[in-house]
Amino acid sequence: MAQIIDGKAVSASVRERIAKETAEFAKETGVIPGLAVIIVGENPASQVYVRNKHKACQDVGMHSVVIEMPENTTQEQLLEKVDELAKDNAIHGILVQLPLPAHIDEEEVIKAIPPEKDVDAFHPANVGRIMIGNQSFVPCTPAGVMELLDAYDIEIEGKNCVIIGRSNIVGKPQAMLMLQKNATVTICHSRTKNLAEVTSKADILVAAVGRSKFVTADMVKEGAVVIDVGINRGEDGKLCGDVDYDAVFDKVSYITPVPGGVGPMTITMLLKNTLTAAKDSVR
Ligand code: NDP
Repeated sequence: MAQIIDGKAVSASVRERIAKETAEFAKETGVIPGLAVIIVGENPASQVYVRNKHKACQDVGMHSVVIEMPENTTQEQLLEKVDELAKDNAIHGILVQLPLPAHIDEEEVIKAIPPEKDVDAFHPANVGRIMIGNQSFVPCTPAGVMELLDAYDIEIEGKNCVIIGRSNIVGKPQAMLMLQKNATVTICHSRTKNLAEVTSKADILVAAVGRSKFVTADMVKEGAVVIDVGINRGEDGKLCGDVDYDAVFDKVSYITPVPGGVGPMTITMLLKNTLTAAKDSVR
């Protein structure tokens, strides 16, 4: 039977630590870490994420600004707003909520965020820094996965880590972070042959696919650690992950539930990056 990795509990304790550090930093320097989140359009899921980020910032004593721009905002108008925030000394982190409306070039917008304020770590300069292992910021979701493994003292060095998914947001940075911790890393994707054969060799399996209950019991090794990044809606309308949780539960040693596993860690890591950005700004 698996031990459940409790993302809510780990997240709460990391947020407590961040709140304490934020207060100490503000006392020492007079600087309150500030995050600006830009949301373009009215995507309901994005609105929920942005509200949660705003509240999380306030809860740890950070300054938080939400900029809501209409769906028909032009690329130029958005770039101007990013530029304004780039020059604002009260703002240490800038996040543009994705996805953006189709008429806006996401890559151009990400490139307009100064790397030192890019708390999502999507700017090519920050992506490059992850490759060479001297990053200030780590993309929030893979950073959250690493924090969870650490909280449960799960050894990474020398382990076979298999990641299903190669997105720039999750799969690729996850692989780099595990490599930095001296794991042997395999990245799988939609063209991977004999996927179950590969995944069943994993000591630590990270699923970031975006398909409900994609990982079945025959795909996991006895005693493996299973980290489920997926957030999907099942046929019953309920949230579920990429892993068939009930089917693998008795076979694995640790597992993250959905919800309540990786999800709560993502915003927590955003707070951590914002504090780092503020600290770096006074160095
Ligand atoms: P993407 O859609 O960008 O990437 C999915 C990856 O899965 C791709 O690399 C794709 O391969 C691979 N894939 C798809 N089908 C298969 C298959 N049949 N076999 C093997 N690999 C396959 O998704 P994201 O990385 O952005 O997100 C993944 C999941 O994580 C989603 O459910 C998302 O909602 C969730 N998520 C959760 C977050 C959180 O806070 N917990 C944050 C971010 C994402 P290929 O590249 O070949 O197409």
